[in-house]
Amino acid sequence: MGNDGGSIPTRRELVKEAARDPTTTQIREIQHEQTEYYWTTDPISRNPLARPLVSDSLGKLYNKDTILEYLLGEGEEASKSEADGILQGNVKALRDIVEVKFEVDKEATENGDGSIKVEVWKCPITNDRLGSGTKSVYLVPCGHAFSARAIKEVARDVESERCLQCSEPYASNDVIPIIPTNPTDIARLALRMKTLKAKGLSHSLKKAPGASKKRKKDKTEGKIDANGHASRESPKASGIKNASTAALAAKVLQEQEQNKRRRMDNDNLKSLFTSRDQTKPSGSSNDFMTRGYTIPAGAKR
Ligand SMILES: [Zn+2]
Repeated sequence: MGNDGGSIPTRRELVKEAARDPTTTQIREIQHEQTEYYWTTDPISRNPLARPLVSDSLGKLYNKDTILEYLLGEGEEASKSEADGILQGNVKALRDIVEVKFEVDKEATENGDGSIKVEVWKCPITNDRLGSGTKSVYLVPCGHAFSARAIKEVARDVESERCLQCSEPYASNDVIPIIPTNPTDIARLALRMKTLKAKGLSHSLKKAPGASKKRKKDKTEGKIDANGHASRESPKASGIKNASTAALAAKVLQEQEQNKRRRMDNDNLKSLFTSRDQTKPSGSSNDFMTRGYTIPAGAKR
């Protein structure tokens, strides 16, 4: 044994040397690339982001199709567990997502020759391009998207805040940063969800009946629910709960059916917005699954 052990620390030192901490510039570059990716790509299907889009409580963007398919448990086991890893339990039902409504910059979206390239989104107030370069937000519950700058202006001028697009009132806490990179923003979103959950609400501000499941402990001990009411549930009440869950499942199914139909209708539309697959016949599901594994040059913003 003797001196042999001495070689181990030496190797460790070598490895340590090789894996030196990245520089601030490197970190910034990686962050920028990641942000760019999440602004252009659905992280689950890895398809390009294309409206209709939804977002979870962390401000991430997904294609609505992807989330519906996930909620319905469609697709392969492997992809399902991969999606679980990405969503981290944040999306368990439709009420956990909000459809984000972007204003499309039609001028920037068209090529010089009138053909259409990748969609560009803009703030309807400031005209800022919404993407990885601009701090962007959407409002809950309506889902309209703006530059953070526009919303800050509103907060300064108006007492009760209303959406600049649809006049729906919103609370300042329900301004959701899209693909946030700032640790303060990320922490605030986590805190917001904690607060909402305690009130029995979901990200979309809809009631979260599933919340009672999480509070099994409270139930068995006959404790107090989030609103401070004693929660002694009769069997009748839990029966109603099951019924409402069934209704929700039916709703997801129904929505999915509609969405499938819409998707077929939309495929022609989609091919207008994306120049990627004009050569392929639109509408084939094969095309839908395989396209867009790489970010096309046109998508770089
Ligand atoms: Zn709105």
